[in-house]
Amino acid sequence: MAGDAGSAPAAGDTLEPEPPPRVGFFTDTSVCIGCKACEVACKEWNALPEDGLTLSGMSYDNTQQLGASTWRHVAFIEQSAPAAPPVPAPEGRTELPVAEAAQSAGGDGELRWLMASDVCKHCTHAACLDVCPTGSLFRTEFGTVVVQEDICNGCGYCVPACPYGVIEQRPSDGRAFKCTLCYDRLSVGQEPACAKACPTESIQFGPLDELRERAALRVDQLHQAGVSDARLYGHDPADGVGGDSAFFLLLDEPEVYGLPPDPVVTTRDLPAMWRHAGAAAASLLGGCLLAFAASSTRNGKGTRA
Ligand code: SF4
Ligand code: SF4
Ligand code: SF4
Repeated sequence: MAGDAGSAPAAGDTLEPEPPPRVGFFTDTSVCIGCKACEVACKEWNALPEDGLTLSGMSYDNTQQLGASTWRHVAFIEQSAPAAPPVPAPEGRTELPVAEAAQSAGGDGELRWLMASDVCKHCTHAACLDVCPTGSLFRTEFGTVVVQEDICNGCGYCVPACPYGVIEQRPSDGRAFKCTLCYDRLSVGQEPACAKACPTESIQFGPLDELRERAALRVDQLHQAGVSDARLYGHDPADGVGGDSAFFLLLDEPEVYGLPPDPVVTTRDLPAMWRHAGAAAASLLGGCLLAFAASSTRNGKGTRA
C-alpha cells in the first residue's frame, strides 16, 4: 500500500542492478571472405550515406578506409607470398571452401588475399573521448565509446587524437561520426548488425573476456596447423591503449592491414605536460617576484640617501 512504511525498502536494501559485462568484437580475419555483408549491414542499420560509386583502382577496396560514412571497412590486400599451409576452420565449424579458394587465388600458391573488416577499436583508454569538450563522446555501460551526433559541435579535436585514424568529420557539417558498436541494438539485447550479417563468423561479438579466451584458442589451433604468422592485435590490456574492445586475429604484420604496429593513447603525456607547464609558470612568477622585491629594496635605499 502506498505510504506503508512497513513495505518501504530499508536503507541499503535496494541493490543497484549489476552492470552488463564489457563487450566487443573478436574479428578472425583468417575466415573473412571479403563479401562486405558487414559494411552493407552497417550502412543499412545506421542509414549511412553512400561513399560514391567510383572505382579506386586499388583492387576491390573501393571504400579504402574508415570514415564518417564508413563505420566498417573491409580491407582487400593482394599479396605475393610463398605457398602457406591452408587455414583450418575454427573448432566445431565446417571448412569454408570459398575462404580456401580466396587464400590460394592464383593457383600456384604465390598469390594470396588477406581480407579484414576494420572498425573503431572502442579503446580502453580512448583519446577521442579525453579531448571531446562537449561530452558528445562518452563511455557506455557496455564499455564502448559512442559519439552523439546531436551534441557534437564539429570542433574536430577527436580526429587527430585517435591513434587509429578512425573517427572523421562529415564534410557537409563538420560533425564527427564513427561506429557506435550498435549502442541502440545492444540496449535492447540485440547483437550488432555487422556481426549478425557476417556469414563466416569472422566478426564475433560477445563479452570481452570470453572473446579473448576464444581468440587464444584459435591462435593455438592455427599455429598447430602450421600457420605460424597468425597473431592477435589489440587484445592485450598492457598495450599502449589499454587493450581494445575490438581486436583482431591477423595473418601478417599489422602494417600490412593499415593498422599501427604499436598504438599509444595520444593523451598519455598530457598530465606530465601540464605539470611541467605549471612548474615553469611557478618559476617565472617566483623570478618576477624576486626581481620586484630586489628593485623595491634598491629604490628604498636610494630615497633614504
Ligand atoms: S579507435 Fe579512435 S575513435 Fe575509436 S575509441 Fe579508440 S580513439 Fe576513439
Ligand atoms: S557495430 Fe554497428 S555501428 Fe559499428 S560497424 Fe557494426 S553495424 Fe556499424
Ligand atoms: S561479412 Fe564477414 S566474411 Fe563478409 S567481409 Fe565482413 S567480416 Fe568478411
